[in-house]
Amino acid sequence: MLSPIEQLAQAFNCAERVLIITGAGLSADSGLPTYRGVGGLYNSNTNDGVPIEVALSGPMLQRDPALCWKYLAELGRACLGAQPNQGHEVIAQLQRLKPHCWLLTQNIDGFHRAAGSPDERLIEIHGQLAPLYCQSCGQKDDDLARRLAAALPPLCRRCAGVMRPPVVLFEEMLPEKAIHTLYEQLGEGFDLVLAIGTSASFPYIVEPVLRARAIGAFTAEINPARTDLSDRVDLYIAGRALDVLPELLSHISVNRICKSSP
Ligand SMILES: [Zn+2]
Repeated sequence: MLSPIEQLAQAFNCAERVLIITGAGLSADSGLPTYRGVGGLYNSNTNDGVPIEVALSGPMLQRDPALCWKYLAELGRACLGAQPNQGHEVIAQLQRLKPHCWLLTQNIDGFHRAAGSPDERLIEIHGQLAPLYCQSCGQKDDDLARRLAAALPPLCRRCAGVMRPPVVLFEEMLPEKAIHTLYEQLGEGFDLVLAIGTSASFPYIVEPVLRARAIGAFTAEINPARTDLSDRVDLYIAGRALDVLPELLSHISVNRICKSSP
């Protein structure tokens, strides 16, 4: 009888096309706040009397850039002050082992890239924190740390327009290229879809899992707490990514000969 982690390892060993989906839970192990869930930054009202979803929204960036930037800066400092953890590193290693292993992340911290996940198989559906760019003229600025240490909101040195990061704020559209790549890859199908540390509250996170399952792929979830997905996957593993992923890696051997499907 295989343990749940061994079952997942076996599914990975035998899969050709894999999609790993990650959420804030993975970076919570690096000390970043989770977006929803216990202790999450996004649960509460801000000190400015508006919910965080309103403070960090596209309309607020236009209406009151200083207020929006106060919370963007909070996120930015949290990300700059933290680092990828072993969970990010194991995922990058899994991608090295499988040339068709894709990564879809909701995280904007850039930790997957920093841990070595390849750009060409990384879909950052909520964008990323850097480089900042000017909303008026498009001028870019790579030095997020320096900008966060200076007056906010950061202004463009060329035209004095308000700078912003290429993240998807609340009430904004998802990046077209990321969506295109995601649906292109979903169209090719996956043998295994693994959701890690996501509360699965967005349709574009749930849909890939359900679509894959409908065509016979193996689906799994790693999360310390049950989510909307937990009852809809083949295998739910209760635990933190930081604990489960290194153990998973210890059971991976991609050169194993797999029984072909009937
Ligand atoms: Zn400008």
